[in-house]
Amino acid sequence: MKFYSLNQQAPKVSFKDAVIKGIAPDRGLYFPERITPLPNSFFEHIEKLSNEEIAFQAIHDFVSEDIPDPTLRNILQEVLDFDFPVKEIEENTGVLELFHGPTMAFKDVGARFMARCLGYFSRGEDSEVTVLVATSGDTGGAVANGFLGVKGVNVVILYPKGKVSEIQERQLTTLGQNITALEVEGTFDDCQKMVKTAFLDEEILNEMQLTSANSINVARWLPQLFYFLFAYKQTKAKTRKIVFSIPSGNFGNICAGMVAQSLGMPCDHFIAATNVNDTVPEFMKTQAYRPKPSTATISNAMDVGDPSNFIRIRHLYRDNFEELSKNLSSYSFTDVETKKAMLEIFKQTHYVTDPHGAVGYLGLKKYQEKHSDAYGIFLETAHPVKFLPVVEETLGLTPEIPPQIERVMHRKKVSIPIRDYQGLKVYLLKR
Ligand SMILES: *Cc1c(COP(=O)(O)O)cnc(C)c1O
Repeated sequence: MKFYSLNQQAPKVSFKDAVIKGIAPDRGLYFPERITPLPNSFFEHIEKLSNEEIAFQAIHDFVSEDIPDPTLRNILQEVLDFDFPVKEIEENTGVLELFHGPTMAFKDVGARFMARCLGYFSRGEDSEVTVLVATSGDTGGAVANGFLGVKGVNVVILYPKGKVSEIQERQLTTLGQNITALEVEGTFDDCQKMVKTAFLDEEILNEMQLTSANSINVARWLPQLFYFLFAYKQTKAKTRKIVFSIPSGNFGNICAGMVAQSLGMPCDHFIAATNVNDTVPEFMKTQAYRPKPSTATISNAMDVGDPSNFIRIRHLYRDNFEELSKNLSSYSFTDVETKKAMLEIFKQTHYVTDPHGAVGYLGLKKYQEKHSDAYGIFLETAHPVKFLPVVEETLGLTPEIPPQIERVMHRKKVSIPIRDYQGLKVYLLKR
């Protein structure tokens, strides 16, 4: 399987090259040259398959030219060593919990899969790959954890000083080894801009192989399609009409869900739920795509004004708006609505959501107003403890701190302060 650039001005590459490059030389995102549906029998008997087997069959076609089967099975076994339960909290409503991984963010699966692929591709090579990534919070921790100790790969994480939660900061600054945290005097947008500048800086590119670990990278993006298959496996006995509501920021997760659907997974509709960063909900209303600067919200992992993966979604529908709108609805919600939903869900069902999950819930309820027969699954993308102050303030309770979080809270923070792009460049070149 080859991957092509959505800008169509760069050669097709193997999965391996797409992962190592991250983005095509023409700045386009890579996309698989075909998505071949799995046989019907796969979906008919999916409940008899282990998660590893489901994942293996689903991703095999995309990666098999570059990763031998036994290696792929090993990678998947390591990546998927925790649960992905669907819990029914109301009639016709389930929540898919994606926070049981090592950093309690749904990004754990993508980050670990990408890390292991890169580790495999770098074996026996003299040169190292440097992963450069900006984080507003959860990406950094998942990437740090996923890449820790992977030979031949150095990870440099930029995060905005004072703008990530304490737990998130511990997760990305306390691991050491091949992980370095740069604490940037500025905002997340500044961090992101510095990363983008570095990717275009010839002096840096001449010295090292840089790649990104954001969801633009196919190895981080594609494995997210597993979640939808795992949810389908647990829910198919209940209903014929499943819809998914995905709290969305960069739209990688939801786009992976659409790939699962293209692989033949029966699914009726997708709902992209956003906070007030409503570029996509507006697009679905007006057909005009107008990116804008991001606004800070309580669901900060979704504070994205120009979602990088939406281009992949449009491409999947060949830019046919009518087709897309049959399969996708998108709604935006304010922080006030989100907090109200967190409280309502807790009062009615005793289920504690984090702000991102609550946005997903709101999107689902809005869709179900007109489609009451649809069985809806919303994705809970982070453990509530990751957003402790909002959860405490809104629900008046403190969720129990899980052991994997407790552990990092006692470690010593190590970070390098950076003021501007020059600071990043000096750091990268002198290593
Ligand atoms: C990254 C993230 C999202 C958004 O996922 P996208 O794939 O960027 O749309 C939602 N919730 C949480 C908690 C996240 O960390």
